[in-house]
Parts: sequence; structure tokens; C-alpha cells
Amino acid sequence: MPAPPFQVRTTTWACSVCGADTPRAYRMGMYAIGETRFNLVRCRDCGLVYVNPRPAEATLGAMYDDESYYTDGYNLGVEDQNYFERKDELIALAGVAWERIEEETEGQGRALELGSAGGFFLEAARRRGWDVSGVELSPPAVRYCKGEFEFPVFEGWLEDAPYEPQSFDLAIADNVLEHTTDPRATLRQLRSLIRPGGHVLVIVPTYVNSGFFRLMNLAQRFLPRKLLGPKLCGMLKFDDSDGGYPYHILEFNRANLVALTKSAGFEVLSVEGSLPRPAHLFKAKDLSLVNHLWKGIFILLDHLMGLRLAPAARIRLLAKRPVHSTE
Ligand SMILES: [Zn+2]
Repeated sequence: MPAPPFQVRTTTWACSVCGADTPRAYRMGMYAIGETRFNLVRCRDCGLVYVNPRPAEATLGAMYDDESYYTDGYNLGVEDQNYFERKDELIALAGVAWERIEEETEGQGRALELGSAGGFFLEAARRRGWDVSGVELSPPAVRYCKGEFEFPVFEGWLEDAPYEPQSFDLAIADNVLEHTTDPRATLRQLRSLIRPGGHVLVIVPTYVNSGFFRLMNLAQRFLPRKLLGPKLCGMLKFDDSDGGYPYHILEFNRANLVALTKSAGFEVLSVEGSLPRPAHLFKAKDLSLVNHLWKGIFILLDHLMGLRLAPAARIRLLAKRPVHSTE
């Protein structure tokens, strides 16, 4: 991997869900910045998997300044096109997601998205009558969003954003918590910004902290790469695939995500597992026989995850700030 355009500094840390500091090794050398490799460890107490040592704050900031985050790193091999090229498709998909959110909450209101990226999710909400605001750390993403859409986006950290307490009906952190150094503090900040009775929607990837990943870790020694193809090998995060920058410093599972959300002062309403559907299987027109088979496996696993019969590769959690909460 080429040398990065910034200095790499690292720091060690304890489990950010339960505070324990005696993790065991989980996967060595999973990620890299230039010559610096990063390992995953697993908390013995709550099962959180995390990068340790992790990049220090300044290094984390520099990682997100890199434009390639959205063009190369963002889809982790699941998609064929880069994030910005998928604008229309992502706004349409977000519209479907918002339909469901409106059924689960109290309909349109004021929504805040933490990590609003290019703004596609919020634009879909705005078109449905929501009053939307975004917070985003990545300068290229903010530039893009401001160039394309009309709603306000704050560039920077959530704690510096100029919002009144209890001024939102809904907060969203979609693929955000796994990037944070203190996910409980992040959830608490979101909680303070939503009104009592308001909702928070959290979506996190959980594949790396699932039995599937552990099984694949063992099985990759025996599985012929040819049968899987390079895309699946990358998605399954085999040893020889380039993990890239350590963007995902936390890997939750169902139990510790629920515990974390409760400890941040929320009432958990629903938790649902699913499996992202890779573009090379679900959007391609002519599938080989092997890929037909894989597509079927993905559909089956997605159903099993939804039914809680298999560990989830992605978790969607809806929680509520208690109606009678004051602080
Ligand atoms: Zn822990």
C-alpha cells in the first residue's frame, strides 16, 4: 500500500461498550495505512470487536479528508459503482426506507442525520416533507452535498453543531457508530438533540463480529478462491484481500449494540438483522451458474438473519427517547 499523505499515529484503548481492557486477539493485520498494520481484538466481557491499537484522533481525521473514502473505500466491494455515481438509485432506495420509518415513528417531522455523506438519504426525506439537517465530517462529501441539495449540512463534529437541545423528532446514524471512538457519547449527544418520545435509528455492519466471519476465517484455508471469485473473497474479508484503512474501528453484535443503546438512555423498540445484497450478484444481467447459486445463498441468509436464525451481517436498531425523560 502506498504511503499516506499524513502522519500515522496510534493509540491503545479499552472496550468502548463495557470498559474492560483485557481483549483477546481476533484478526491480525486486518487493515493498513501505508506500512502500519492494524489488528482486531475482541472484548472478553461483552464481545465487542475493535481495532487496537487504533489510529489516534488526528490520524482518524486525516483518513476522512481523503477523497478516495467515497470513491474507493465506501462500498467495501459490495457495489460496482462508486457512491456518488449511485445518486438516483440511492435516493430511490432511501425513499423506501423512509416509508417504513414513517410507519414506525409519527410521520414527517424534523430529522437529523449524523454522517449524512453525499446527502442522498436526507434528500429522499426532504422530498417526502421532512425538515432535514445533516452533520458530516468529510469535506469532499459536504462539498458535494451542498452543490447538489438545498438543505443545511454542518461540516464537523456533532458536539460542535449548532442545534438546540430537543429540537429533532428523529436522529439517524446509518453506518456511523462503527467509526466512532466513543459510541455511547455519540448516542447521548443524539439523545439530547431529540425530543422526549423522539426516535433514533441506528444501522451498523456486524459481519466481522459474527459467526460467519469466524467460520470464514477458518474455512478460507480450504475454500478454493476460484469458486468464490475475487469479489466475494474481498467481501468476506479473506486474509489476502486488502482491508484498506481502518475505518471500522468498532464491530458490534446484536447484544452489545442493544446494551450500548440502553446505557445511553434509550428504550430499544426493534432490532433486525439483514445481509447487504452485492451488486455483482443482484444487478448483473447474465449470471454464471456459480453466481446464481451464490445469489440464492445470499437471499436465503438474508431471510434467516431477518428471522434471527442466523447471525446478522448488518443490524438495524430503532430506539426511542423515553417520553418522560428530562435531561
Ligand atoms: Zn466490552
